[in-house]
Amino acid sequence: MSLAIGHFAVGAGITLLGYQIVRPEIRRKVPNKWLMAILAGLWAMFPDLSQFVKRLEGFHDSLWANIGFFHQIMERLDTHDSIWVSAVLVVFMGTIVVSLLMSDIWHFLRKK
Ligand SMILES: [Zn+2]
Repeated sequence: MSLAIGHFAVGAGITLLGYQIVRPEIRRKVPNKWLMAILAGLWAMFPDLSQFVKRLEGFHDSLWANIGFFHQIMERLDTHDSIWVSAVLVVFMGTIVVSLLMSDIWHFLRKK
């Protein structure tokens, strides 16, 4: 098992990292990067719906759960629900968020 916040951080962090490294013309087509990151984070937590919907238990334990940003791999690597693993993942996501915010501020100030 892995904490939900860890899954969210991986989904949102990878999405924002991808946003940051794609070409600018592709980046401009994204209407709202923050909404996209939140949706990706929720998508990463999607396999955990099996806790509420018993029909999804097989899905959660299968390789198919990896479509939720490596969900099953994370569950296998972090078997003890470590707070430290989730903290590292949140720091990973936070670093990307801060760098994007600084980039936005930089571009805003340059336009003035
Ligand atoms: Zn899970």
